[in-house]
Amino acid sequence: MATARAPEREPQGALEKLVSLAKRRGFFFQSSEIYGGIQGIWDFGPLGVALRNNLKRAWWRSMVELRDDVVGLDAGIIMNPQTWVASGHVANFTDPLVECKKCHQRFRADQVAGSRHEDDGGEFTEARQFNLMFKTFVGPVESSSAQVYLRPETAQGIFVNFANVINSTRMRPPFGIAQVGKAFRNEITPGNSIFRLREFEMMELEYFVPPADELKWLEYWKEQRMEWHRGLGIRPDKLRFRQHGPKELAHYARGAFDIEYEFPFGWSELEGIAARGNYDLTEHQRVSGKDLSYFDDLKRERYIPHVVEPSVGVDRSMLTVLLDAYNEEEVRGEQRTVLRLHHAIAPIQVAILPLSRKEPLLSLATRVEHDLRPFFRTEYDDTQSIGKRYRRQDEIGTPFAVTIDFETEKDQAATIRSRDEMTQVRVPLAELSDALRERLG
Ligand code: ATP
Repeated sequence: MATARAPEREPQGALEKLVSLAKRRGFFFQSSEIYGGIQGIWDFGPLGVALRNNLKRAWWRSMVELRDDVVGLDAGIIMNPQTWVASGHVANFTDPLVECKKCHQRFRADQVAGSRHEDDGGEFTEARQFNLMFKTFVGPVESSSAQVYLRPETAQGIFVNFANVINSTRMRPPFGIAQVGKAFRNEITPGNSIFRLREFEMMELEYFVPPADELKWLEYWKEQRMEWHRGLGIRPDKLRFRQHGPKELAHYARGAFDIEYEFPFGWSELEGIAARGNYDLTEHQRVSGKDLSYFDDLKRERYIPHVVEPSVGVDRSMLTVLLDAYNEEEVRGEQRTVLRLHHAIAPIQVAILPLSRKEPLLSLATRVEHDLRPFFRTEYDDTQSIGKRYRRQDEIGTPFAVTIDFETEKDQAATIRSRDEMTQVRVPLAELSDALRERLG
């Protein structure tokens, strides 16, 4: 351990350790790093993209496929700019910005309230409102009429398609539309690695309900979403709800909760769940002039549905599962770092490790990997000593390793080594797949 060998240095914080592991093993890197990077944007490496895909798949499975009241949507990132006028983003999607009078660095006023800029004691300017939406142009003319925004949330793509979905499906309130996709916010102070980004990905559900049922559904989704995070193996004592106070609530909102996680930098928002009334559909109806109401045949009444919105960042969820899974422990006098990632989201589920690169182990191991590959996320590795290979798999969160050794040809069996218990059991090759399926669930 670096801290043991170099006691004069500050012990590395949990976040720094994770960021270093992420880079060393290929979860995430600073974007365009060879040019010095770009603030608030990160690139995801081979293991990172696998983990993200698994998280998105787990979300989609639980929110869309395993339900009969939610359908999916994939709207464009660039939308007609009127969308953002109607939603209120053009006027109100702002953060208060202050500038240090001496060094001209800019900060979010609510984050530095009452303090002075620590480097040089410079004072801040008066706060002004800074709109967080990125602007660009469509078409060949860079005029104000061609100006568009990169979406700062995916939700509006759902609201503007509300009537299309109602008219093309059999969905009737209560029902939901789910979407996963990139969003962009020109955050004044991005940071804490992938916690606050300028380009990120969101998983959002808009759940449309009869007006009288809104708070009941807020309660329902709040519990569902907490269960989802716990189901990914996040320690329950690291998760909590925080209810928004009356001052924090948007004027149209009926109630809102954050699911918070205890990050190394303190309790912070992982997911937001809000009862948004019928604000969005009403505003789009007003600005577009299109009817966005719904007629309930049974009750013979027309209304604009209210909406409950659970909204979570893929990146925040990724950071949470990684931090929560990170452990350093001493085993038989040796330090090991292990990511205790849930089996469902681990980038690799089974590593196939031959003790030697020589025949017959090579062919046996290759065959085993080919047999297991259709059923599990596998990796074949024959480099370095077996101890080092176990350490590497522990560090990237692989729950099981199958070791092919010098006995394998004779007894047609291999060893399954578990990441968490570090136990080893001998299993006939013919039963490997079943044995792993049983363990991986
Ligand atoms: P904040 O007040 O911290 O800026 P917010 O309350 O505006 O955030 P929401 O609009 O509720 O955030 O976003 C929903 C979810 O999207 C958040 O819970 C978070 O998981 C994710 N998210 C929002 N902004 C970012 C960002 N800049 N980087 C990464 N993820 C983000």
